[in-house]
Amino acid sequence: MRRRGRGYVAALLLGSAAGAHAKCDKIEIRVLPFNVIEDYSKPYKELLKIGTGGGEVGLVRTTFIARVQGCIATVGYEAPTLYVASELPADPCAFEHVKAHEQEHIAIYAAALSTLQARIEARVAEGQDLFEAAKTEVLAVDADQAALDSAAEYTKNASACAGKIIKLAMNRR
Ligand SMILES: [Zn+2]
Repeated sequence: MRRRGRGYVAALLLGSAAGAHAKCDKIEIRVLPFNVIEDYSKPYKELLKIGTGGGEVGLVRTTFIARVQGCIATVGYEAPTLYVASELPADPCAFEHVKAHEQEHIAIYAAALSTLQARIEARVAEGQDLFEAAKTEVLAVDADQAALDSAAEYTKNASACAGKIIKLAMNRR
């Protein structure tokens, strides 16, 4: 859950796609497994440091990876972690509400990953550099993530659970 926040993931691009192209007929694209870690142990104040803005009662952090080794490219989201502030589980309504919102972010990543290989392959087949193709795709996912955190969604969350979620975020700021 994040209102401001720019850039959902840090992108890490390793290796040289250009160099690999020279030696390979085709670069095989592999997608990293997407295994979500759930962490409800960190207090709100710590989540503020992990997040990039907004009232971070919950958030998802991950790093997008694009790595070329030989003729194999590995792409995907490394160590996706769903955080909900440790103050929240004591209030089941607030906890479930925030967790459900963060799971929507997770679902966006999962949906994107299901077609990521095909979409990057299509771009590379059109002559695009592999890293450029991966970057274009990851930015599109970022835009989808930002769209979930609309003003309407924020307002809905602010009034949910008798305003307890927003109270937590405001009190601890
Ligand atoms: Zn959100």
